Amino acid sequence: MARKKLIAGNWKMNCLLAEGTDLAKGIAAEVKKMGKPSCEFLVCPPFTLLTTVKKALRGAKVALGAQDAHFNVKGAHTGDVSPVMLKDAGCQYVILGHSERRADHGESNELINKKAVAAYEAGLKAVICIGETLEQRDSGKTIEVCSNQILGSVPDNADASNTVIAYEPVWAIGTGKTPTAQDVEEVHAAVRKVLAKKLGKGNANKMRILYGGSVKPGNAKEFLSLPDVDGALIGGASLKVEDFVAIAKNAGCC
Ligand code: PEP
Repeated sequence: MARKKLIAGNWKMNCLLAEGTDLAKGIAAEVKKMGKPSCEFLVCPPFTLLTTVKKALRGAKVALGAQDAHFNVKGAHTGDVSPVMLKDAGCQYVILGHSERRADHGESNELINKKAVAAYEAGLKAVICIGETLEQRDSGKTIEVCSNQILGSVPDNADASNTVIAYEPVWAIGTGKTPTAQDVEEVHAAVRKVLAKKLGKGNANKMRILYGGSVKPGNAKEFLSLPDVDGALIGGASLKVEDFVAIAKNAGCC
């Protein structure tokens, strides 16, 4: 089953208006130059830049995503943004359960699951993040932790059309450290097995599982050529047009 690779940038809490606009315009221009790339592209700027980036991406096949959403449609939730609002702002995707949100905001699997259901109802695709800490890896619990995160945070009505999984070892995010390619493939294959149990084999075989954690132009080929790796969720390197584009090129997108 051929799964189209997704090259996704998570800008996190970075970029003011001018910088974000330039970055989006630069990515749009490079993706246009690729003609018909074999991968899909996604950028996830902070909320403040969503509408501006949407405009800057005009005419380029680059989807827009947000980095979080509330599970309610509207109401008394100061500081939060609903999936319906994100859809209205032009988003097609929303990242949910990033380890930085699990750590900074105490987000649980149950909460992430609720947010994903709300995202589907608004017509958004959810990029649901999972991944173990260094302590969990060192104590041999990687597969157990990731499996439990999948079982808890992926809704029962998830399928390949509304959900992408991102495996991001917490200790590899922003550190320059990465697991070996063999470790990554082992986790991705195990995650796909759990997805098959939960959602059926057909769904699991179609669902994209991205790797994230210090993906750079230099290691993109190694990770993105693994059989169960269907793209990348990229933090730091997504903030430079040339790095983001080099990752896509090295991954064989064009
Ligand atoms: C991320 O933020 O999802 C991420 C993987 O960051 P980095 O690529 O910087 O490790």
